[in-house]
Parts: sequence; structure tokens; C-alpha cells
Amino acid sequence: MDARSAALVRANFRSVTDAPGGSERLISAFYGHLFADNPRLRELFPPAMDMQAKRLATAIQFVLDNLEDWERAQKFLEQLARDHRKYGVSAAHYDAAGRALLSAFRTFHGPNWHRELEEGWRDITILISASMAIGANSDKSKPFWEATVVGHRKVLEDLAIVRLQSDGPIPYQAGQYVPVAVPQRPKMWRYLSPAIPANPYGEIEFHVRKVRGGWVSPAIVNETKVGDRWQVAGPLGGLHVDRESGRDVLMIGAGTGIAPLRAQLIEMGQRGINPRVHFFIGGRYPCDLYDVENMWQLSQSNPWLTVVPVCEEKTNPWWYPHPPADAPYGMHRRLIGNLGAVVASFGAWADRQIQIAGSARMIEDTRRALIAVGTPEYIISSDPV
Ligand SMILES: Cc1cc2nc3c(=O)[nH]c(=O)nc-3n(C[C@H](O)[C@H](O)[C@H](O)COP(=O)(O)OP(=O)(O)OC[C@H]3O[C@@H](n4cnc5c(N)ncnc54)[C@H](O)[C@@H]3O)c2cc1C
Repeated sequence: MDARSAALVRANFRSVTDAPGGSERLISAFYGHLFADNPRLRELFPPAMDMQAKRLATAIQFVLDNLEDWERAQKFLEQLARDHRKYGVSAAHYDAAGRALLSAFRTFHGPNWHRELEEGWRDITILISASMAIGANSDKSKPFWEATVVGHRKVLEDLAIVRLQSDGPIPYQAGQYVPVAVPQRPKMWRYLSPAIPANPYGEIEFHVRKVRGGWVSPAIVNETKVGDRWQVAGPLGGLHVDRESGRDVLMIGAGTGIAPLRAQLIEMGQRGINPRVHFFIGGRYPCDLYDVENMWQLSQSNPWLTVVPVCEEKTNPWWYPHPPADAPYGMHRRLIGNLGAVVASFGAWADRQIQIAGSARMIEDTRRALIAVGTPEYIISSDPV
């Protein structure tokens, strides 16, 4: 695709996402076309499709952002297609999906649609569907594994640590995330990041925060029972420490966003030689740093690791049930302030490889704070949330 067409489709997609409810209208037109032409595909998806718009829009944006680095975009699309195997979507369905997406753009723009847009989006939708078909065909492993809940512990009113034993080892790399479906909300797959590295016994641990008004996370935090059977699909994402780069590491995590960082640190703890790692763990109140003690313990036996807790408030809120004397080890060195601002106050960390994990807003704020002090953007990685 030439630079002019690329600029045209990018600007066009921006006009869709900037319009109030634009992404939702586009994606609902996409599913409208897809299910009208292929009614049997509807059964493969969950009844509630409200989160699909955001996910699909994020995926299209990622592809558009990486048109000049097609290998990266292709890898992402192949992973996405492997992930969709859990719904029963196969390579043959991607041609239909590509055509439905092009029709959705036509429907969205109505009379403003023109030949250059048709050609630009046709090229993109063909690239997307071809890459996804390659991804779906390339993976002959199981689309998902079954795992039994063996532990469920609420560490905060709205946050639970869930431990599972899968029927077979799930082949993920520390730092990746996996789609998960729970019996209380069948077929409603959500991404969760394992908080420990994969092991041969199939043990896996997730840290889940309840999102108010959410479908799945409140069910996980409040209703999960030992013995529940979960489905866990193939891994996605590429957060990792690049050992070849020769760069030390800066990790910044908030809330359950610490999970993929924690998994990598535990995995690194099993090796003899590691780059130096500074790990900033943030939260609003001290009690939000629910795992700081474990990370502090890890740093005590691994001199390459420095853990820095950061809280916005000095004390816990009045409703937190434990007395201040219960402060975990590791908190004596905590810094007070906004996580991104605190990390950036130490400088640009330009000689590091940087991973940021947390909510979309936290990632964006932290990324912006670092770039403002001169951090090169290319050294920063985060998951598409
Ligand atoms: C790569 C990746 C890794 C993730 N890892 C974890 C993890 O390890 N632990 C974990 O607890 N969650 C994780 N999440 C978030 C998780 O996948 C769900 O999005 C989240 O649990 C909400 O699901 P839900 O069904 O309860 O809410 P939904 O029913 O999907 O959404 C309900 C409403 O809440 C909003 N919403 C959705 N997610 C959030 C959020 N995170 N913060 C604020 N508002 C939100 C939606 O916009 C919607 O309006 C991860 C997400 C991604 C993309």
C-alpha cells in the first residue's frame, strides 16, 4: 500500500473513532453484514457483544499504526486468529469477515464513500483477512484448555487471586496474557495475565479486579468456587525482556497490571544471570499494593531487582479494615505521588527497555510522562488494552 492510501485510510478511521459512538456503529454494521451473510456464525459468539466494538476498533487501529512495520502487524493478526479458534472460527471464515468489514465501512460512510476509500480499505481488509487465515491455519494445537479452580482468595474487597490447575501445561511465556471463560459467564472470554510463569504441573494464577458494572470480573471476584472449571485459550501478547539488547529493564505496574511483570520476574528469578530491573509498583492507597511484600521478598534474594512502591495517598482509606501496623514489608521505602510522574522524576531511563502494565489510562499517562522527559518511544512496550 502506498503512503497516500495509508494516510487516507488512517485519516478515515480517525473520523470514525472520533465521531460520537462511531466505533460502535461501524462494528455493529460489521456484525450485521457478517451475520446476515453467514447466519451460522452468530452461534459462535456470546449473546452480549458490547465489548467487541472496542476490541475490534483497537485491533484495526493497531494494524493501521503498523502498516510500515507489516511483520509486527501480521504477527498480531496471526495471534488474534489463533485466539479466535476458541469461538470455533476457522481460516475459511476470515474471507467473509474481510468482506463484511469493507461493507461496514461503506454502510458507515453512506454517500461520502468514494473510490479511493474503497480501494484503500479493500487492500487493508484483504491484508487483515489473509493474515488471520494464515494464523488460524498455522496452529494445530487445542483452541483451549480446561482448568480447575484450586484456590480463590480475596485480597481486597474488589480483588481476588485465583489459582487453577489445568488439565495439561498451557504453553504461555511469562508476560503474555490468555483469554479465559468462566462457568458463571459462558462464552464471555476475557483476557487475563497469568501472574506466575508456566510450569510443567499446569498451575496457573490470575489476579482479578472487579470492574463495576462488568459482566465477568464481578462474577470471578464474588462467585468463583474451588472446583469450578475454567477454559483458558492460547496465549497472546509479547511483553518480554529482550536479553539480546544489553539494556537494563524498567517495569512499571499498577493494580492487577503487575501480573505479567510479576510472572517475568519470577521466571527471571529461576535464572543465574539477569539484567538489572527497577520495578515501580503503583496504586492509589497503600493497601492497593496488595502484592508488594512478595515482590519485596523476591528482591531480597535477587540483587538485580529493585522494587519501588509508589502510592498517591499516604494512608489507607477509612474503610480499609486493617490497622496501619499491618503495613507489609517493602512499604517503608514507598514514594508518594502519581506513578508516571514519580518514575519520570528520575529522568528519561533512556538506556532501559521499559514495560508499562495497568489500565489503559495508567499506561497512557505514564507513557506521556516519560516521553515528556525525553524517553524514546520505541523503548516502551505495553499490551493493547
Ligand atoms: C491484555 C489484557 C490483559 C488483561 N489482564 C487482566 C488481569 O490480569 N486482571 C484483570 O483483572 N483484568 C485484566 N484485563 C481486563 C479484563 O480482560 C476485563 O476487561 C475486565 O476484567 C472487565 O471485564 P468485565 O467483563 O467485568 O467488564 P465488561 O462487561 O467487559 O465491561 C463493562 C464496562 O466496564 C468497562 N471496562 C472494561 N474493562 C475495564 C477496566 N479494566 N477498567 C475500567 N473499566 C473497564 C467497559 O468499557 C464497559 O463499559 C486485561 C485486559 C487486557 C486487554
